[in-house]
Amino acid sequence: MKVILARDLQAASERVAEANRNRFRQHGVLAINLMGSPGAGKTALLEATLPRLHPRYGCTVVEGDIATTRDGERIAALGVPVVQLNTGGACHLDPAMVARALEELPGGGRLLFVENVGNLVCPAEVDIGTDRTVVVFSVTEGPDKPEKYPLAFSRADAVVLSKVDLLPHLDLRREDFLDVLGRCAPAAAVFPVSARTGEGVDAWCAWIEAQVTNQYSHPPGEG
Ligand code: MG
Ligand code: ZN
Repeated sequence: MKVILARDLQAASERVAEANRNRFRQHGVLAINLMGSPGAGKTALLEATLPRLHPRYGCTVVEGDIATTRDGERIAALGVPVVQLNTGGACHLDPAMVARALEELPGGGRLLFVENVGNLVCPAEVDIGTDRTVVVFSVTEGPDKPEKYPLAFSRADAVVLSKVDLLPHLDLRREDFLDVLGRCAPAAAVFPVSARTGEGVDAWCAWIEAQVTNQYSHPPGEG
């Protein structure tokens, strides 16, 4: 009887993630894993971000959803190359899905955004080979969520606090979100953003540009 161990599958997954990472290095690409709850505003954030960064860096996008091509269509409408991954039920992307999507995207770009399946749990547990992890966290979710979903926040390089234009309509204070993020995402840069009004988008885009510079200002192996 053939026995397959979960830890061997895990090792195989890690090898594919590492291959993705190497591919990004070879092509001078910075890859960002965007995660967050369904409806956090991940795609809206991309719609606010891509028109600013695509002309200068060349962006490509992988859209992960259980079903539909809705988000892929929104990105394609911006003129940015996109592949839609439909997981058919799986609640996160795995590195092999991302590797398959990369085969369909044109080369030459410097920035890849991978919008993970809307979910604050397992996308945080699965390494897909990206260089930075960003959590999109909307004010309508409430300031208790970083403590309830600690892994996603503790591993984030940045947190985009989205939909801040709605704060005047909520009994919640911006300071309460910033306080909890300071505790639960101590390593993360925090960007209060409204994709609707454009508030905070400049600072968020400047952070991305700094990540590209940081990633490639040192020779491989030194940075
Ligand atoms: Mg989306
Ligand atoms: Zn999952």
